[in-house]
Amino acid sequence: MSSNTQRTSNGRHQVVIIGAGFGGLFAAKKFKDKNVQVTIVDRTNHHLFQPLLYQVATGILSSGEIAPSIRQIMADQDNVRVVKGEVRKVDTDARTVYADLGGKDEILTYDSLIVAAGAGQSYFGNEHFAEFAPGMKSIDDALEIRARVTGAYERAEIADDPDERQRLLTFVVVGGGPTGVELAGQLAEMAHRTLRDEFREINTNNARIVLVDGGPQVLAPFGKRLGRKAARILEDMGVEVVLNSMVTSVTKEGVTYKDMKTDEEHFIPSYAKIWSAGVSASPLGKHIAEQLGVETDRAGRVMVNDDLSVGSDHNVFIVGDMMNLNNLPGVAQVAMQGGQYAANAIVDEVENGASPEARKPFEYFDKGSMAIISRFNAVVKMNKAEVSGFVGWVMWLVLHLMYMVGFRNRLVAGISWGLNSVSRRRWQLVATRQQLHARNALRKLRELEDKENIRSIEVRDNLRFGEGRDTRAVSD
Ligand SMILES: Cc1cc2nc3c(=O)[nH]c(=O)nc-3n(C[C@H](O)[C@H](O)[C@H](O)COP(=O)(O)OP(=O)(O)OC[C@H]3O[C@@H](n4cnc5c(N)ncnc54)[C@H](O)[C@@H]3O)c2cc1C
Repeated sequence: MSSNTQRTSNGRHQVVIIGAGFGGLFAAKKFKDKNVQVTIVDRTNHHLFQPLLYQVATGILSSGEIAPSIRQIMADQDNVRVVKGEVRKVDTDARTVYADLGGKDEILTYDSLIVAAGAGQSYFGNEHFAEFAPGMKSIDDALEIRARVTGAYERAEIADDPDERQRLLTFVVVGGGPTGVELAGQLAEMAHRTLRDEFREINTNNARIVLVDGGPQVLAPFGKRLGRKAARILEDMGVEVVLNSMVTSVTKEGVTYKDMKTDEEHFIPSYAKIWSAGVSASPLGKHIAEQLGVETDRAGRVMVNDDLSVGSDHNVFIVGDMMNLNNLPGVAQVAMQGGQYAANAIVDEVENGASPEARKPFEYFDKGSMAIISRFNAVVKMNKAEVSGFVGWVMWLVLHLMYMVGFRNRLVAGISWGLNSVSRRRWQLVATRQQLHARNALRKLRELEDKENIRSIEVRDNLRFGEGRDTRAVSD
């Protein structure tokens, strides 16, 4: 395999940022016009506004509105270079990052490293559930969920067997955190509002939306009162909220859960299942922690120092969903503020000669949490203040417009939300076979690569997909 070593070595302090999510992007912006050379490496070409993924999944927003190009965002920062590649290895002794550009390695050396590779979906050791219940972590996930949801209605419309029809019209969301609650709310709105007049053989009002959570309430971080309120609003919208219940099996046919109070098992026949129950930090965290003799927690988050550095290495910062500092939550604000803190510390040391020992500990300023449940209805928790209903919805709207990247995206999202509030229609319901099958097809491709010990680019170049091999047998 060929490899490149860093091209831009102009004598400046070299900063490498892994990941252009909230942590990485907000760090990179702080380096504007500073005397450092920055390289951002991300495996995707876009900065993803994850909190709005469920709106792509349910046809309110298009993918581009929540995922602007990293290159475009960084276009006016001359000291930033963007590399699209997957970081597979970091050598903290050699201060080197190895990024796989699809068959070609890019070797980047750094003076300072900011690691912000985020977290992936966790199935708590039941990774095989993923085949039938996609998580909600990427644009691909959101588009697949959209294809599964719209596909379920299409199949129900032509189903002859009433049991099969009801299975197709049953949607199960696993996990009652903000994502699960928001998604369940939107699925209910789609069934009872958006799609109401669009089918002839089925009544979409008969759709069953079930939200299953292992805990005693939904929205646990929001406290009991708001959790109860959110559950009540969902139930009023027709969502069945099943609490204290652990999912024990997910198959093509449906979902089985165990009621933790009675120990009874229940099966919900369902075609479209969505998993939003847990996260685990990027494995890069453990890889770096092991080199620097530092622990990780159960979710794979690195136990960082109070200046977000790792162990005795002042030049490696881990921010956002990958780090554990006083159990701060895995939310966008923690990542943004962490990225900005790390960048400020580096600039202070490069430009003002400050010493790493003089860094003030990172202090997180909690701006509150919010979740939208339905049109005009959101719950907001800000320190001790709890707001819900229309006022909460307006607060949600303002904050999300503020933090979206790019004027056009704000404008288009604002218009979409306005139109969605007054009209029943959704304009982003396009769904393709590729969206439906690509994830499982890619998994099969990876298995093939592993078996034949070939890298993706070679597989892509040399094998005609599906030719002579059973790669079409993907699950739906
Ligand atoms: C569906 C959903 C809804 C959410 N809703 C909210 C909400 O309402 N409010 C809130 O505050 N938070 C919410 N969050 C959490 C919030 O999005 C995260 O806390 C935040 O994105 C963390 O930022 P980060 O920079 O650590 O990681 P991310 O934003 O996840 O960014 C990680 C980046 O690293 C890249 N990457 C990963 N591995 C590699 C690698 N090996 N090589 C190269 N690049 C890599 C990824 O492509 C990605 O761009 C939500 C999350 C999800 C998934």
